[in-house]
Amino acid sequence: MKTYLVTGAAGFIGANFIKYMLAKYPEIKIVVLDLLTYAGNLGTIAEDIDGERCEFVKGDICDRALTDGLFAKYQFDYVVNFAAESHVDRSIENPQLFLVTNILGTQNLLDSARKAWVTGKTATGYPEWREGVRFHQVSTDEVYGSLGAEGYFHETTPLDPRSPYSASKTSADLFVQAYSETYKMPVSITRCSNNYGPYHFPEKLIPLIIKNILEGKLLPVYGDGTNVRDWLYVEDHCKAIDLVIHKGRAGEVYNVGGHNEKQNIEIVKLTISTIRRLMTEQPEYRQVLKKKEMGADGQISIDWINESLITFVKDRLGHDQRYAIDPTKITNELGWTPETSFETGIVKTIRWYLDNQKWVEDITGGDYMKYYEQMYGNR
Ligand code: NAD
Repeated sequence: MKTYLVTGAAGFIGANFIKYMLAKYPEIKIVVLDLLTYAGNLGTIAEDIDGERCEFVKGDICDRALTDGLFAKYQFDYVVNFAAESHVDRSIENPQLFLVTNILGTQNLLDSARKAWVTGKTATGYPEWREGVRFHQVSTDEVYGSLGAEGYFHETTPLDPRSPYSASKTSADLFVQAYSETYKMPVSITRCSNNYGPYHFPEKLIPLIIKNILEGKLLPVYGDGTNVRDWLYVEDHCKAIDLVIHKGRAGEVYNVGGHNEKQNIEIVKLTISTIRRLMTEQPEYRQVLKKKEMGADGQISIDWINESLITFVKDRLGHDQRYAIDPTKITNELGWTPETSFETGIVKTIRWYLDNQKWVEDITGGDYMKYYEQMYGNR
């Protein structure tokens, strides 16, 4: 039985990843390590933690005594490091937290893994590693900086982070690569574009827009809304990580992206029109609207759900214009391609939020509301 340490799995992508892995591999054991910051919600993975195939440990990836203890206890074969401070706006407010969690946390995990996995020395003086182990770092396309209207990020694109968040993720990647070079540690890195899907914390664009519509609030869009992101359904990202840790070459970086570039404003308009369509096809969904105005037909009205809700707000400092990933390497080497089109994925995502309002209410406690009001006022 292979054992995985998955950090940050009470968050968005990590939670989707462990659900995917537990469903796909009956014979694995996963230990989740998560600090349960504002972004982590144990409720998201409560049904997965059965104490046998999946155990939960609340703790900090920076806590060396804890991580050493976990390696000693569980003899991990794989580490998949999702744990991070992940929101660019928050990194602009508090860069140091990003440095501590994203850089020192990753380096701490690398050291615990090194201590646990090195079995001796090779003839050339390099450490000898336990057979079959892998340290996987979940990274982002933001490490490459910003693109103009043309071109794509390749694995060879120079690193050019521009926000405190991307600077911290880049530094973590460089440490992972340094451990590969210096100690020959078996590592891999995936750099993925923007994810969307179930369990996404409602401070990020798509779930924020859904939440605000359901609450009858305005829809804040940065600048003129023309910033372009490359969107990937979260399960496709999970499949890519699964492939890379098991079949990808050690020491390599793989870019992951769906060739699905959209301007932020397009995403917002599409979310509005999709919610309207779903609520027209299935009027029972209108029950989740907080604003319950009755229409002439005796049904809860959705007439007010339209583009007039959009409000352009002061642009993010240093807002990157465009990200676009070239995933040719992972496609050619490992046969990965995105399986969920954006049209299908956005409907699945919106339906999930309509069906899981309890989850949204639980995760958006006091801390989040304070942060939201600080960023956008009480709209
Ligand atoms: P998230 O913010 O939803 O989740 C992060 C999780 O990490 C939370 O559960 C939080 O409690 C936990 N955490 C934070 N600090 C911790 C610490 N010190 N110790 C232990 N746990 C801690 O993030 P996400 O969107 O799921 O992103 C996961 C990873 O994927 C991040 O590393 C992020 O950089 C990367 N990534 C995200 C995207 C995206 O679109 N969301 C795209 C590419 C890469």
